[in-house]
Parts: sequence; C-alpha cells; structure tokens
Amino acid sequence: MTPSQESLSAGSLPDHTPRPPQMRYCKRCTYPERAVFLTLGDDGVCSGCRVNSEKPKIDWEERGEMLREILEEFRSRDGSNYDCMIPVSGGKDSYFQTHVIKNVYKMNPLLVTYHGNNYMPEGMRNLINMRKVFGVDHIFFTPSIQALVKLNVAGFKLHGDMNWHAHCGIATYPVQAAVKQKVPLMIWGEHGPTHLGGQHSLKDLIEKNARSRLEHSQHGLDWKDFVGVEGLTKQEMLWAMYPPDDEIEKVGVRQIFLGNYVYWDENIHGEAMVKDFGFEKSEQPFERTYRRFSNLDDMHENGIHDYMKYIKFGYGRATDHTSKDIRAGHMTREQGVEIVRRMDSVKPRDLSRWLDYVHMSEEEFDRIADGFRDKRVWWRENGKWVKDNIWDAAERV
Ligand SMILES: [Zn+2]
Repeated sequence: MTPSQESLSAGSLPDHTPRPPQMRYCKRCTYPERAVFLTLGDDGVCSGCRVNSEKPKIDWEERGEMLREILEEFRSRDGSNYDCMIPVSGGKDSYFQTHVIKNVYKMNPLLVTYHGNNYMPEGMRNLINMRKVFGVDHIFFTPSIQALVKLNVAGFKLHGDMNWHAHCGIATYPVQAAVKQKVPLMIWGEHGPTHLGGQHSLKDLIEKNARSRLEHSQHGLDWKDFVGVEGLTKQEMLWAMYPPDDEIEKVGVRQIFLGNYVYWDENIHGEAMVKDFGFEKSEQPFERTYRRFSNLDDMHENGIHDYMKYIKFGYGRATDHTSKDIRAGHMTREQGVEIVRRMDSVKPRDLSRWLDYVHMSEEEFDRIADGFRDKRVWWRENGKWVKDNIWDAAERV
C-alpha cells in the first residue's frame, strides 16, 4: 500500500495534492495519453488511431483466404468432433463471429459461455437465442452465486474492478472446455489492445495465449491472488485455473482473433445482426454510453464497473466508444468530445443494486474507490478531486 492509499483508507483526504503534468489528448480521437494500451506520438496522434489507419491498406480478401486455410487445417475430417470453439457472451460480436464461422465458412462450432450472473434481460435473450438462430451447440458455465458475490468484493478491493472474475472466466473457462472436448481451434473476436490501443500492428496477426490472458485479460492477477480474500477458497475457483502447458500442447490449442482476418466495423455488423438474426439492443439508454448494443452480458459493465475505470484512469466507455466511432468515420471528434463531456463522469444508478448485491455502503465504496485514483490523472483542489479534461484541451487549441 502506498502512503497516499494509507491516508485515504484512514478517511483523511487532504484538501490539496500536487498537480500532475498537463494531460495530453489524441488530436484525432478522444483518448487521453494515459489510456490503457495506448501511447501518444510526438505528432499528437495515438497508437490506436495509427493502427486503425492500417485497416484500409490491408488486403482483406487475402486475409479471408488465410482464415480459410487455418479453418480447413482444423476442420474435423470425419465429423466426429466440433471443428472449432467460439467463446461467446451473446453480444453483437458473438453473433458476428458465429455468423462468419458457421454461415460463411460452413464450420461446425461449439459455443462456450462464462456466465457471471448479472445479465441484462435483453443480453440473456440474445445469448439463449444463439443456438436457435445459428443451429449450434452451446455450453453455459456459471460459478456459484456465493463465490461470485465474494469475487465482486475481492476484485473491487484488490484491483478496483468488481468484474475481474468475468475477465478471468471468459479468458479461462473456454480454454478448459477446449482441452476437455479436444477442440483445438478457438475463435475470438476483436483484439482490444490492437484495435483500441494500437499496442500491436494488424500485420502482427496476434493470437491469444497464457501470457496475454494473464497480462491483458486479468491485469496480472490470477486465481491464487484471490484465495483467502473475502473467504474465497480454491474449490470455489476451479473454473479460473488455466490448463497446464502439457494439456494445451496435447490438444494443440490455438486461439486466433477474427478481427485479424475480417474487416471489423462493429456498427455495420451490429446492425446486420439486428436485421438478420434478431439481435436485441438494450431497451433503455445507458447513463455512461450512447451505444445500446454493447456489453449487455452484465448490467454493471456499462455502469458502475465502467465508472471505476473513470475513477482509476480518468476516462470511461464514452471515450472508448466515441474513439472507435470517430476512427470508423461515424462521428466527428467535436461530437465525440461533447459526448465525453456529458457522460464520462456520471456516477450511475446501478451502483445501488451492486451495493445491495455485495452488502456494502456507498461510503465504503467511495472510500475504496478513491484509493485507486491514478495520481498522474487526478489531484485534489479545495477538498475536491479534479483532472484535466478533453474539452479544456479542445478550447485551448
Ligand atoms: Zn487517437
């Protein structure tokens, strides 16, 4: 624990703290330089925008052929097993992945879902509907409610992230299932660090593995870090254990990202999934993003979970979504900045439901949350937390 966290947990916040250096923002999208996986170049353009500008230069027909070759290599010759596995949450990307693999490439996939207990009704209907509209088999897995409640609290206290269990479950349980079912090829959707943050080039054809699971999906934490926290036991986290190397190698597990082989524009394929397969958007608008077709697999994902990202790093999902939509040409940067101004700082109403779920008071929530504020982003002024904002930067230009 750092000295500043100690003083915060004691409940004695100073009125003033040192102001960090001026925050810089990408001049094309809405990301601050502190955004996860991203670097800002001397030209003021972020690595995510730079990698995104590679997209039109990629020969997507050639990539489609590369995908076909991989799929043919893994297709079950005698039909005695599934051809591949698709980890799905039931979101628009899950629909698109399944559509491409089943309908375009005529593979027989097995769908696998880690269910974290907090689906929105629309998200649950979308998930259940998949085996009907695509004609595929589907495994659902969900940990015990008791374990999930403890994991919500433990994730929040250890890492400021109540949904850590979901990041781990999504990245781990399907790999366990691939090993058990002896289905080596796994098809993921978009590679976030490449597409959002530009951590890799699209030419790198990144694949998922044990290291990226731990470093990217699970932010460096594994199940062992949670045993003993909030009374969690090893037996409650069997689903969170990544298979050992020899088992992975025996089956020959390979985890590719469809976004490396198919042109990815989620607005276009999201609308197509609504029209062609009855995908449902959220009936109600969200408070922290204008999109209604993202993250319906957890009612807190666009709410209090995302608010914690804002508390930690100073930006939220409105920044993610506007940056994606600006890059894809669906809105201007000025429109994006206005949305960020309106939505990024909102403390959402689903907080009260989450506090009931885990039996915590709002005071305790705020005290713990404040301990995770990045001192390179936030400082205290006259007894309040403040930070540089993108609209201030825009007005300076
Ligand atoms: Zn950018």
